[in-house]
Amino acid sequence: MDFQVSEKMTTILEMVNGFIDAEVIPLEGEMLHGDPEELAEKVAAAQVKVRQMELWAPNHPVEFGGMGLSMVDHGMLTEALGRTPLGHTVFGCQAPDAGNIEILHRYATPAQRDRFLRPLVAGEIRSCFSMTEPGMPGSNPVMMATTAVKDGDDYVINGQKWFTSSADGANFAIVMAVTDPDAPAYQRASMILVPTDTPGFNLVRNVSVRGHPGTGHASHGEVIYESCRVPQSNLLGLEGGGFVIAQERLGPGRIHHCMRWIGIASRAFDLMCERAIGRQIDPSGDTLADRQVIQHWVAELDAEIRGARLQTLHAAWVIDQHGAKAARDEISAIKFSVANTMLHAVDKAIQVHGALGVTDDTILSHWYRHERAARIYDGADEVHKTSLGRRILRGYQTPAAES
Ligand SMILES: Cc1cc2nc3c(=O)[nH]c(=O)nc-3n(C[C@H](O)[C@H](O)[C@H](O)COP(=O)(O)OP(=O)(O)OC[C@H]3O[C@@H](n4cnc5c(N)ncnc54)[C@H](O)[C@@H]3O)c2cc1C
Repeated sequence: MDFQVSEKMTTILEMVNGFIDAEVIPLEGEMLHGDPEELAEKVAAAQVKVRQMELWAPNHPVEFGGMGLSMVDHGMLTEALGRTPLGHTVFGCQAPDAGNIEILHRYATPAQRDRFLRPLVAGEIRSCFSMTEPGMPGSNPVMMATTAVKDGDDYVINGQKWFTSSADGANFAIVMAVTDPDAPAYQRASMILVPTDTPGFNLVRNVSVRGHPGTGHASHGEVIYESCRVPQSNLLGLEGGGFVIAQERLGPGRIHHCMRWIGIASRAFDLMCERAIGRQIDPSGDTLADRQVIQHWVAELDAEIRGARLQTLHAAWVIDQHGAKAARDEISAIKFSVANTMLHAVDKAIQVHGALGVTDDTILSHWYRHERAARIYDGADEVHKTSLGRRILRGYQTPAAES
């Protein structure tokens, strides 16, 4: 294992961190209190500068205008971008587009590449990923009610999805639907590209999350597919291959999430320390930083965040060396442990800020509101713990017990 940061990456990380501090964090006030249209203009202006610096879409292959970074390098970059909720958007690698780009890059036909992939990487359009259904357990997606039935040269899709993140304003959805109900469980479903202007694609609402329905990219759509007809040439990959593709999307995607969460934890930690140093709590001049309980929180969180970072970089390194399948245990472990580290950091930072922590005068309450979901999406804590625990225990079975 070698986490030596190359000279090139050191330079890139300095540039990115400097840009995030100078140009992106100052936009957070606009995001929390301002006009969404003005924010969009400022984000677009920042994106132009990112392209000029040749840092656009860092995780994508070079032939698509990206930087073609390894998983470890992209992980470090993602931490830097994750220090603000706007970081990934400004650099052209935000979810769900980033994951969709990965699978399109791998499975799209030449025609699908031209129509969907190239403009997506260029940031000209947005996309969404439509798999979870309100009436079915997302934790066990083989239970899926949405169907895509062949009719002539088309698929006709019917079903109800929700938490199709960023559907509002997206140009197309990658929809998971049952194409063969009689096939073995993991071969029943397929992924199909559905332009959102197709008749029968109905964005019913942006689901309100903790008091905020959101708009545009920052929203979670409920979508009803009603006799939604697309050509069979919009099938992505093989028919019945939906779960294989989903698995490939989720593995590296979890590294991206975890490193973004470490970015959040680091920034929350910085805000916490700055507040502790600056907040006088006694006429003698004592600040919060003079209290032992705060010193312990700082030390404990520092250790937790360092551990989470190394654990995630290690998982990224295993993917770089041996592929996502070989990193199954590492990915399961970071998915639940890093999510909880990040939430712990945000919670502690809010506590140190007192009443200020729950206001929208800092970014902390935004994260408290939205990032609770980290323990649910891309595999709930309990699901990852069960599968990791089971695999670990299997290694302790005696040959007699195995037979
Ligand atoms: C902010 C956010 C964004 C999302 N974005 C998208 C998106 O873009 N596209 C998309 O398709 N979906 C998206 N999702 C949906 C997400 O993938 C699902 O919420 C997730 O898969 C869990 O499914 P569920 O909500 O149906 O919960 P359920 O499957 O009903 O599970 C509920 C709870 O039961 C427990 N549980 C479940 N299974 C087990 C088990 N085997 N053992 C023990 N306990 C268990 C867990 O605590 C779990 O949280 C998003 C969700 C959120 C919150």
